Amino acid sequence: MIGFKLGLVIMAVFLFLLLLLGVVIERMFTGFYYQEMQQETEDLASHFTAMAQSGDTTSELMMSSFAEFSNVSIFNISLNNKVNFHSGVHDYADRSFVRKEDLQAIYAGHSINFLYTDPGGHRYFVAGQPIQRGQAVQSALYVMSSTNSMEQSLSTVRSILLLSGLGAVVIALGITWFIARTLSRPLLQMQTATRKIAAGDLETRLTIRSRDEIGHLAGAINDLAVDLQHYRDTRQEFLANISHELRTPITYLQGYAKVVRDGLYETDDEKKLYLEIINQEAHRIQHLVDDLFELAKMEEGKITLNRENVDLRQVVDQSVRRMELTVKDKGLNLTAAYEGRAYLLPGDRKRMEQIVMNLLENAVRYTDEGAVHIRLQYTGHSAVLVIQDTGIGIPEAELPHVLERFYRVEKSRSRQYGGTGLGLSIVNKLVELHGGTLSITSKLGEGTRCEVTFYREK
Ligand code: ADP
Repeated sequence: MIGFKLGLVIMAVFLFLLLLLGVVIERMFTGFYYQEMQQETEDLASHFTAMAQSGDTTSELMMSSFAEFSNVSIFNISLNNKVNFHSGVHDYADRSFVRKEDLQAIYAGHSINFLYTDPGGHRYFVAGQPIQRGQAVQSALYVMSSTNSMEQSLSTVRSILLLSGLGAVVIALGITWFIARTLSRPLLQMQTATRKIAAGDLETRLTIRSRDEIGHLAGAINDLAVDLQHYRDTRQEFLANISHELRTPITYLQGYAKVVRDGLYETDDEKKLYLEIINQEAHRIQHLVDDLFELAKMEEGKITLNRENVDLRQVVDQSVRRMELTVKDKGLNLTAAYEGRAYLLPGDRKRMEQIVMNLLENAVRYTDEGAVHIRLQYTGHSAVLVIQDTGIGIPEAELPHVLERFYRVEKSRSRQYGGTGLGLSIVNKLVELHGGTLSITSKLGEGTRCEVTFYREK
């Protein structure tokens, strides 16, 4: 449609210009021919007048043959409209071209000239001049030159103009058709593709044929389809993961609640144990829902940092204190060391606490014996926090995935250690929000090292 509209406009402009050009050229040619012929007729009249005035006896004969040769008619007319001499094809009897006022003008010594149409519709250039004998005007000489041949030439010119005009219109039509097609075809393809994408066929892709705006648009549509596909896939995976994560604790809840309700236990201690399991599983669900909510907010970009100046050493100290009891229970050794001149870092204190706590919890959770070391090192432009443990470690092949949502090394780990698989992806997002970097290295069976860098100025 857009191609058609554009084509129509181009055609209209083209036709208008062509018409204008045609009219101008036609006018130019006609004007030129008329002027030329008028001049020629006048020149002939002067020539014949000179011959007539020479008084030569052979002059009339010469004039006759000259007139025949030049294809004109000559009339030598006296004041009383009597023809003294006549030669040429024009009917001798028709003298309607002789007007009284013209004759008077000629007899007064003037030349006349005009375009004349005879009763039969033929057109002539007429030139009249006085033939003088001494001082007096003896008679009037009229030369009539038919416009026939001129009109023939003009009509040839007109047909050539018309033909070339028609040719140009045909070419213009072809060009318009071509433009309309090349312009609207990719647009139509894009329309079909976007409709398909909107209908859920996200595998739809457009072939990019040009590097212009239309090509860019096709590229943008393709990118959109890829993004939508990724979004759909991850959403499906996300939902599947959530239901999977919830199913296990809910099964436990149902099972143990039923055991307690139906009194299927023997001792009070047994009952307490079951209730404790129910409590733990409820906590697990709470934890999972909190994490999910947090992650969803972050993914939507709804989390904004409450920026302040944070003393990271305090944050680390506090986290260490909070973990002390668990560490003691597990018989682990937890140490913290600070290096370099400390300064305040721009960031959200609560979020920074969350980052440190999460990494520390992981280190303690996945370490059964040995130690967890924390080192905070301040340099000129950044503060590097390293949390190193002597725990079970992460297999090399799985290391690149631990930041993904719900990713867990060996699916059995979570039940044994009680994680949700969301912790590290939340930590990673929070570090990113702070403009920092997170890197994890690990060796299976030897331990894991997490390094977070916060920058002094972002
Ligand atoms: P979870 O809540 O299950 O711990 P995370 O996202 O925090 O989930 O971690 C993803 C996975 O990475 C965990 O399942 C765990 O197997 C592994 N992992 C994380 N931290 C450590 C660590 N310090 N030592 C060994 N494995 C770890």
